Amino acid sequence: MPQTKEEKKQYQKEYREKNKEILSQKQKEHRKNNIELYRQKDKEDYQKRKNTLNHKEYQENNKDKKRERDKLYYQKNKDKKNQQRKEWSQTEQGKKLCKITDWKSQGIKSSNFDLVYERYINTNYCEVCNIELTHGRYNTKTTRCLDHQHASGEIRNILCHHCNTQRKSIDLKHMYVLQELHRYFNRTEI
Ligand SMILES: [Zn+2]
Repeated sequence: MPQTKEEKKQYQKEYREKNKEILSQKQKEHRKNNIELYRQKDKEDYQKRKNTLNHKEYQENNKDKKRERDKLYYQKNKDKKNQQRKEWSQTEQGKKLCKITDWKSQGIKSSNFDLVYERYINTNYCEVCNIELTHGRYNTKTTRCLDHQHASGEIRNILCHHCNTQRKSIDLKHMYVLQELHRYFNRTEI
C-alpha cells in the first residue's frame, strides 16, 4: 500500500489510467441518472462566470463614472453631516455641550459641569457690576461669561464680558508677580 503523499498520488494516477474506461462509463451513467442536477450546476457555473466577467468589464469601462459617483457621495455626506452638526449645535443640548467643550479648552476645571452650566445659564445679572447679561454669538460688553482663576482653572463668578476682561488682566498680572516671586525665592547664589 502507498504510504507517502507522493506514493498515494502516483497510485491514484495509475489507478485512473488502468480504469479509464470503467470510470468514464461510470461518470456518464451518473450524469445520465442525475441529468437535472448537472444541468442546474452547469447553469449556475455559467452564470457565475458571466457575472464575474460582466462586473470586471463594467468596472473597467466605468472607472471615471465610479470616481465621480464616489466623489459626489462623499460631498453629499459631508454636507449632510455638516448640516446635522449645525442643527444639533442649535438645540439646547448642543448649545450646552459646545459651551462645556469651550470651557474645558480654556483650562476651566470642575467636577460637575452640568451644575456649572445650570448656574451660568440662570444668572441674569453680572455678579460684579450688576448689569443685565446678554447672550449672543459675538461678544459685547454685556455678554455672559464664566470667570475663572487663570492659574488654577477654578471657577469664580458669572460676569459680563467687560468685568471678565478686567479680571483676566488682573489674573495675568498676579501670575506674573507669582512667577517673579517664585524665581526670587528659588534663585541660587553663584
Ligand atoms: Zn460686569
